[in-house]
Amino acid sequence: MARKPIIVRTVPALRKAIAQLRKRRKTIALVPTMGALHEGHFSLVRHARKRAGAVAVSIFVNPKQFAPTEDFGSYPRNFARDVAALTELGVDLVWAPTDAAMYPDGFSTAVLPDGPAKAGLEDTYRPHFFGGVTTVVAKLFLQVGADVALFGQKDYQQLKVVTRMASDLDIPTKVVGCPTVREKDGLALSSRNVYLSPAERQTAPVLYRVLKDSAARIKAGETIAKILADGRATITNAGFAVDYLEARHAETLEPVATYGDGPIRLLVAARLGKTRLIDNLGV
Ligand code: AMP
Repeated sequence: MARKPIIVRTVPALRKAIAQLRKRRKTIALVPTMGALHEGHFSLVRHARKRAGAVAVSIFVNPKQFAPTEDFGSYPRNFARDVAALTELGVDLVWAPTDAAMYPDGFSTAVLPDGPAKAGLEDTYRPHFFGGVTTVVAKLFLQVGADVALFGQKDYQQLKVVTRMASDLDIPTKVVGCPTVREKDGLALSSRNVYLSPAERQTAPVLYRVLKDSAARIKAGETIAKILADGRATITNAGFAVDYLEARHAETLEPVATYGDGPIRLLVAARLGKTRLIDNLGV
């Protein structure tokens, strides 16, 4: 049987556990998550194991990245199942702070990102989001002091924002992006997929199909504005409310007009019933 990871819930306990891991295993990789773990998270853990002697996974549903109208209260939580899965994967440490350990009474500081966090994508529809993410990820990086931290390309703008934040604040943790894990029909794995009704679940892969089709048409030299208009119509006709379908420069996230302006990343966000899904694809 695999050994259960050390589970810590306070910063002093974390520091002690990290110091011991450092002594025994030299290097540490961190995989930040909000729990409700799935194959996407597990793939980050497997990448982490290749990159460091010890793997720490944080599980914290961060209240600061949810707007009052969003799903903080109902966000799926299953700590026992998460720990069982992380045990099988050989994770060394689970950092599962309480809200009070992360944001004690009187907490008054925020990290406020600009640049990729103001690209006019997720930030337009979730204005609270990236400030909450960078505040908690900066804290996680400083708490754990990992050599490397693994993030999914699934949240592409977030990956760019966190990379920029770590670099701007001279935090020595190296941010590494890992490929999106998908269901067989192309739907990107997400903790929020459990919200989908059976009928919505059938519809959901339309997003990936549109991304793939749009990427192929961009490569074939068709006009990007026309491709995106067609894609938005396809997604809308399938029953979604589209927040955005955009072609952006893969590094700067600036809008692009032609294939030559690339490398291009296609990014989409759309709502299906009560569930908001995001996805993206390189061209
Ligand atoms: P979350 O728990 O949703 O905040 O995600 C934690 C980390 O897992 C983030 O770096 C996500 O980008 C990553 N992640 C979520 N879904 C996937 C997926 N389908 N494939 C790869 N990484 C993912």
